[in-house]
Amino acid sequence: MPKWHVVSGAIFSLLLVLLFDIGWASACLVFLSSVLIDLDHYVLYFASEKKLHPFDFWDWSIKRNLLWKKFSRRERDLHKRPHFLLHGIEVVLLLWILSLFFGFFFWIFLGFGLHICLDLIDNILFAYHPASKFSQIWTWHRNKKKKKVLR
Ligand SMILES: [Zn+2]
Repeated sequence: MPKWHVVSGAIFSLLLVLLFDIGWASACLVFLSSVLIDLDHYVLYFASEKKLHPFDFWDWSIKRNLLWKKFSRRERDLHKRPHFLLHGIEVVLLLWILSLFFGFFFWIFLGFGLHICLDLIDNILFAYHPASKFSQIWTWHRNKKKKKVLR
């Protein structure tokens, strides 16, 4: 749920300020990155439904999440997993490489890293395969010959 990403991102950013004196601008970047990474869910919604309304997006997300939770492990294995384009080791590695040249990207790297770690813990707790939030290359490879989840 987004509220846990907001709370954990705020605490993490505050700790970075208190422990490492990173400055408030950098802390804001870490915080915003840790929350706004989920905009890829919105992109997925737009690509699927061709709509932009935020309330419809929220309803759509809740329904899909509930549907997915009703699936048995076997049913989950038969269906395609969604592509969350910003969630994955590929983007995190790219941010890390960019941070070697532009320090600005390091704070986004930290925010994305925090968010993805929390998502992975969530996936493991709900017995979902964690790779769909860990690698989009894996998701693409895995989705070959799988069924699309129907609404
Ligand atoms: Zn997420």
